[in-house]
Amino acid sequence: MELEERARDSADNCVACTSCIAVCPITKANREYKGPKLVGPAHNRMHFSDESDYEETLKLCSNCKNCDITCPHGVAVSTLNMLERGRYYQQHPEAHTKTDEMLCHGFKMADMLAGIPLARTFANIGMGIGEATGIMGTMMSMGGVNLAPRPTPRYASTYFREWIKGYNQTGGKKRQVAYFPGCYIDTNDPDVGKAFVEVMNANDIEVIYDKRWVCCGSPLVVGGYLDEAREHAATNVSIILEYARRGIPVIASCTSCALMLKSEYTELFAQSEMKEAAANVYDDFEFLAIMQEEGTLKLPKSTDGKKLIYHAPCHLRAQGMGLPALDMLQEIGVNIENADAGCCGMSGNYGFRKENYETSMKVGEKLFNTIKESGASEVVCDCGTCREQIKHATSQPTCHPIQILAKAYND
Ligand code: SF4
Ligand code: SF4
Repeated sequence: MELEERARDSADNCVACTSCIAVCPITKANREYKGPKLVGPAHNRMHFSDESDYEETLKLCSNCKNCDITCPHGVAVSTLNMLERGRYYQQHPEAHTKTDEMLCHGFKMADMLAGIPLARTFANIGMGIGEATGIMGTMMSMGGVNLAPRPTPRYASTYFREWIKGYNQTGGKKRQVAYFPGCYIDTNDPDVGKAFVEVMNANDIEVIYDKRWVCCGSPLVVGGYLDEAREHAATNVSIILEYARRGIPVIASCTSCALMLKSEYTELFAQSEMKEAAANVYDDFEFLAIMQEEGTLKLPKSTDGKKLIYHAPCHLRAQGMGLPALDMLQEIGVNIENADAGCCGMSGNYGFRKENYETSMKVGEKLFNTIKESGASEVVCDCGTCREQIKHATSQPTCHPIQILAKAYND
């Protein structure tokens, strides 16, 4: 059933106050971009009078959502932008490039490699040699794929989905949660998912992994593949609703996945079942904070005094729940400070595009300098692609906050 409140109607609430322009990191870093007010609400009003109208600089929006976080009148600026981008590609599917195809469908390659013995090892070796010799960029460009000069995330030798099948979960198993790892944790960084399972088991909770999950669809949305994203949303929403009926919450450790499941499906596609499913989805530390309030969380004390710095991803801040991971880590005695230095510039696959590389690195400059000057030995951040950006720009090691918490249980 279609909801009455639709993101596109929110354009009419814009009073042109320009607050969104002041916080848009792309407007600051790249003067070509016409900015959220014009590209989002103003343009949406215009295009309803002329369907063929298209704002060319819309391609520069990274969907970071800082405009939505700030707008005092509830205008869903980034969603207007993504709907408009999707509308354009529905009318012009031939405009999609090979780079779009590759970056927005990373899950296809990851799934394909899962079925071939040693394929991931050879893929990783190939990427390493290609990057070290500069051949990678040349070969990709010759094939029509234009990637930024940065390391490509490597495939894990064992995906999270494979690891959990053979893992004997400990603990009393008083209750269950369903885990949505998302593509990055599942296929590139399964240690984050393992840490989540450890934390849950330490609290007598069993973690269910459902092999029917599909990519949350965030890369599809930013690439303008809205119809495909809607199909992914429908699959995931039906699974979430099954768990909701069984009283089992769904938890995500990736902030972009959590944001998709919790609010973007509803904002983009305006279906009432999406809103219903969203009520059963939690960010991992949001869920832990709720457990703490209920008095059901056993928290460890951290004995590791090493200095850490925390970066809050834009897609975490867009969930409007504060910074639960930072609060909890500080509470258990972790020596961690908030970088509080804005967007890292990566925004999912935005910074992986050659044409966005310079803008992406410029956006993150303040954060990179803050990290370098902090003297911290590791950067803690809830988003996988933010961690990729931080590693690339600062050469500092990074991890997810759930890994710090899991370690504290074992200290
Ligand atoms: S912050 Fe909101 S109301 Fe102000 S210009 Fe931007 S979209 Fe319009
Ligand atoms: S989503 Fe980010 S890049 Fe796009 S208009 Fe909003 S603030 Fe700017």
